Amino acid sequence: MSKKWVYLFSEGNASMRDLLGGKGAGVAEMTRTGVPVPPGFTITTEACNSYYDNGKQFPEGLWDQVTESLKDIEQKTGKKFGDPSNPLLVSVRSGAKFSMPGMMDTVLNLGLNKQTLEGLAKLTDNPRFAADAYRRFVQLFGKIVLGVDGEKFEHVLNEAKGHNRQDTDLSAEELQAITEKFKAIIKQDAGVDFPEDPYEQLMMSIGAVFSSWMGRRAVDYRRLNKIADNLGTGVNVQAMVFGNMGDDSATGVAFTRSPSTGDEHIYGEYLVNAQGEDVVAGVRTPRPIAELSQEMPTVYGQFATIAKQLEGHYKDVQDVEFTIEKGKLWMLQTRTGKRTGAAAIKIAVDLLREGVIDEATAVQRVEPAALDQLLHPTVDEGAKAKARTIGDYLTTGLPASPGAATGKVVFDPDEAELRGRNGEKIILVRTETAPEDFHGMVAAQAVLTARGGMTSHAAVVARGMGKPCVAGAGALRIDYKAQEFSANGRTIKHGEYITLDGGTGEVFAGRLPTVEPKLTGDFATFMSWADKLRKLGVRTNADTPHDARVAREFGAEGIGLCRTEHMFFEGDRIDAMREMIVAETLDERRAALAKIEPLQQGDFEGIFEAMDDFPVTIRTLDPPLHEFLPHGEDEIAALAQKMGIDTTKLKTKIESLREANPMLGFRGCRLGIIYPEITEMQARAIFKAAAACQKKGVKVHPEVMIPLVGDLSELKAQADLVRRVADEVMQETGETIAYMVGTMIELPRAALTADKIAEVAEFFSFGTNDLTQTTFGMSRDDAGRFLPLYVERKILKDDPFQVLDQEGVGQLVQMGTERGRSTRANLKVGICGEHGGEPSSVMFCHRVGLNYVSCSPYRVPIARLAAAHAALGDATRDK
Ligand code: ADP
Ligand code: MG
Ligand code: MG
Repeated sequence: MSKKWVYLFSEGNASMRDLLGGKGAGVAEMTRTGVPVPPGFTITTEACNSYYDNGKQFPEGLWDQVTESLKDIEQKTGKKFGDPSNPLLVSVRSGAKFSMPGMMDTVLNLGLNKQTLEGLAKLTDNPRFAADAYRRFVQLFGKIVLGVDGEKFEHVLNEAKGHNRQDTDLSAEELQAITEKFKAIIKQDAGVDFPEDPYEQLMMSIGAVFSSWMGRRAVDYRRLNKIADNLGTGVNVQAMVFGNMGDDSATGVAFTRSPSTGDEHIYGEYLVNAQGEDVVAGVRTPRPIAELSQEMPTVYGQFATIAKQLEGHYKDVQDVEFTIEKGKLWMLQTRTGKRTGAAAIKIAVDLLREGVIDEATAVQRVEPAALDQLLHPTVDEGAKAKARTIGDYLTTGLPASPGAATGKVVFDPDEAELRGRNGEKIILVRTETAPEDFHGMVAAQAVLTARGGMTSHAAVVARGMGKPCVAGAGALRIDYKAQEFSANGRTIKHGEYITLDGGTGEVFAGRLPTVEPKLTGDFATFMSWADKLRKLGVRTNADTPHDARVAREFGAEGIGLCRTEHMFFEGDRIDAMREMIVAETLDERRAALAKIEPLQQGDFEGIFEAMDDFPVTIRTLDPPLHEFLPHGEDEIAALAQKMGIDTTKLKTKIESLREANPMLGFRGCRLGIIYPEITEMQARAIFKAAAACQKKGVKVHPEVMIPLVGDLSELKAQADLVRRVADEVMQETGETIAYMVGTMIELPRAALTADKIAEVAEFFSFGTNDLTQTTFGMSRDDAGRFLPLYVERKILKDDPFQVLDQEGVGQLVQMGTERGRSTRANLKVGICGEHGGEPSSVMFCHRVGLNYVSCSPYRVPIARLAAAHAALGDATRDK
């Protein structure tokens, strides 16, 4: 007996996603619970994998099981595959473990040929319907199975429709003529006659679904979503039901709650006398589902009941597909609904209030990364109003995915991809998007389409990626040839800037300023649940009082990294800094530093106040001095004049500071060791600020952090100095300040000798940006040339500067923490750097027992939620 490759829908259930794929498990579960689903069967993902292992051959026994299972469908429907007197037609649908919207292809109405077509027309007494079904089948089969360019079919179809007619206006005869043309195209392009034998059609289609698993769209999607290639796809073969049998028939898609806002009402779109992808492909503009309740009240009632039942069953929002055949409702798909960050929060909070889920489940229902969208800016209202008065308002489409974006108009996805790679900000403008545009959408800041609804491809994909999208902006007239579009009397050319607000659907010409998001009560409630669960502290990286305040609003519990150098760039401070750098003598340098000290003190006071009673980690000067100096001829001359020194002399000085490899050069603690007066000044500014704040009643917890330490003696030299200055300031001010001195661990040597370093350091903060650079021996500034290609070619799974490399860099973090604590048991350990706000890295930090993560203000909520997920031991999707 060969392996079981095929499961009838009645044999599966929701827990079999790995084996049957999401779609197969979903239809099986619906079948099991008595929802009306056309009968069918699922070919397992294992069969797909065997197909690839077998050199693209069906594994042994598969075909026999398929034909056997087909008999079951025949028996349940009373129809017969290939029988002209009562033909069974089927769909062949892909479906992997994770839903990949629009990524894989589906063939509909399979089983039609010359004889069965005639039979179907006679049986239904509806030749137009039969011709329409056949037209669709030949088109889908030609495109998906035989690989003919779909545009060619579209072209024929559009030509036949002419200007004012829709597909529903085509007569049976016209449809037949169109299908004949399709066949001619197929003959010419694919070099084959259209297969007449239904079994051959079926076999080829199953093979095509298997093959689509490794198609470009699917591979791109998996790469972006970090889904493994070896999961395989299931193939579902299912009896057709027909939404295209006339005005008592329809097809549609719906969410059980709004995927955009989370509002609790059924939310969807449908089309009368239509089939398959018509709704999402924007063939005609679909109608809101509310209208179905008037048009077919009984069916709508049944539908609404089933939708709610499915939501209750799965305890989560469902995204469903349905078809109405001559007044009878059929459910074709159910899956967890993708939603915006805002909707995710509202739905989680509402489902908890409705008693459907508990707090831990609610917290787990929201992906940390999804919060990103919530924290996204919107277009400034004042600027919008002004834009309207000067005629920059273009149109309002559907608010398909929130967020504000500004970028240059590009119409071609390939071009978008190219320019996006080069770091340009692009907005992809299309009549509608199709799965093959995916790579362009990935590269764009946002997507704007002229056609399609809230469930269109563009909308679904953009929401999934957290990108702003305005869909179905019907007023847009796009001219791909001329590379321009017009709206509201304006013409916008390729390369010109537009701004769009995916939360409102508005589109403007030019670049409009954006504003920070406001957070709702639901958000606060939700985050409080996450905070109750998490064990990891969350701090922020902030260099200014403003950032510190923003971060506190987002829930930061202190500053994990305050970079003092950023303060040097403001206003004329840079002059004093430059004077300091070019100084020839110690006295000159001290004089310049004396100018900077009060300014730094002022900054620190502002930060301590904003972070009242929370710890503030301040890092001493870190970057190579060269970064502070001017580089252009004119700038150098101007500076020389300002400083009253000779231009050539200044040039020579600047030249002398140039380094072959500044990242590994004269920077970090090396500066403070060679020029102790710099650290002294900074320490003085820190403690004077602390003393002044404490006098005012602000609670201060300064933590002075020495960067780029590789050897204990480096830290010791700097720590001694800091402590001496602290004593002096405490003497002078009479204030006793509780403070700590610690170090960044950002060199492998520091991690290796962490036990020694912890003799002096009272805390560690892993600077994972530099630690990644030095562990990989890869400069972040130069990695742009090869790193994206590394990721694309899967040499590396992720960009290690975005996602912590747990295997290598993470090992240093873990080991450094353990060794450090072996010397100093209560050593406080955190991480700062990009990784502190990246969910999988945060989870790692939780696992290795860090005390806190620190990240940029806008990522603080993401880190809080990721920390809660980590605490819940939430096994991340096994990708
Ligand atoms: P996707 O993965 O893109 O959602 P589906 O397999 O769900 O693809 O199919 C595409 C379209 O065809 C959907 O609108 C679906 O409802 C419709 N469809 C699939 N199978 C059938 C069927 N047996 N009868 C009628 N419509 C079907
Ligand atoms: Mg599809
Ligand atoms: Mg579907």
